[in-house]
Amino acid sequence: MFYKTLNNQVKMPQLGFGVYQTPVDETKQAVLEAIEVGYRSFDTAQAYGNEAGVGQAIQASGLPREEFFITTKIWITNAGYEKAKASIAASLRKLQTDYIDLLLIHQPFGDYYGSYRAMEKAYKAGKVRAIGVSNFSPDRFIDLQHFVDIKPAVNQIETHVFQQQKLAKSYLDKYHCQIESWGPFAEGRNDFFNTPVLKAIGDKYGKSVAQVALRFLLQSDVVLIPKSVRKERMQENFDIFDFALTEEDMQAIAALDQEKSLFFDHQDPETAEFFMNLADK
Ligand code: NAP
Repeated sequence: MFYKTLNNQVKMPQLGFGVYQTPVDETKQAVLEAIEVGYRSFDTAQAYGNEAGVGQAIQASGLPREEFFITTKIWITNAGYEKAKASIAASLRKLQTDYIDLLLIHQPFGDYYGSYRAMEKAYKAGKVRAIGVSNFSPDRFIDLQHFVDIKPAVNQIETHVFQQQKLAKSYLDKYHCQIESWGPFAEGRNDFFNTPVLKAIGDKYGKSVAQVALRFLLQSDVVLIPKSVRKERMQENFDIFDFALTEEDMQAIAALDQEKSLFFDHQDPETAEFFMNLADK
């Protein structure tokens, strides 16, 4: 396993496992299988509804808690100091743990300054080892990091071969914040698993398109958390440490960048209105 050292010296596995859209009743089993494969870092969120399944799998594994790195995220309906504080307590209960390794603000909408203060308090109380954000564009990130005491350690944003986030990453690097990819396969959009450039490169090493795409992120200093509910794919996505892309491979993949989201742009006013509607629910 490769690790990234965050801005507070906490070590985070560079490859983890995501459980967005993993059905609630399948999460425990999926995480247990991922643990068998070798994953130790798990990414869940209050909004996914499956924090409890992650907690149950970690308990059932019988492995010491310190072997794991658990990330969860505060949802927009829990924004603001008091609600965020209560939601952190609820997440700790569901995850069956005394501490969260990484706690993120899920979306840059609502009273996220209030949420951040609650996260700083939990951090100082030892309930959280690192705090950060998700889906923050550079402008919102720069503003937030300027006014907080504990600087964000991670920004989890859509990052894959078609949306490489070079500009965002340059600013995250400048402020010593680790970039973390969500959607490393763009959830299969853009006919992802048939991308000719990735296939041709994979053929040279006997590796799949998925493995080349993940290896590209690994070599780009990105933390990644691919999701799968199938054990053979969990294994495939884990087997990326026994080959290396050349500079030429890296450049060929860099040229795939479309520099735009395949999902939605958080700076689009329609996206903001969509999240405001969610916040009101
Ligand atoms: P993803 O990892 O890009 O793609 C997952 C999809 O790819 C699933 O349909 C999966 O199907 C398939 N897949 C996985 N491995 C494969 C392989 N080797 N070959 C072919 N297909 C494969 O998408 P994601 O789940 O959206 O992103 C990963 C994680 O990032 C999430 O689980 C979540 O933890 C996090 N995330 C965060 C945010 C945020 O707002 N912060 C947003 C989205 C995601 P099967 O499951 O059927 O194998």
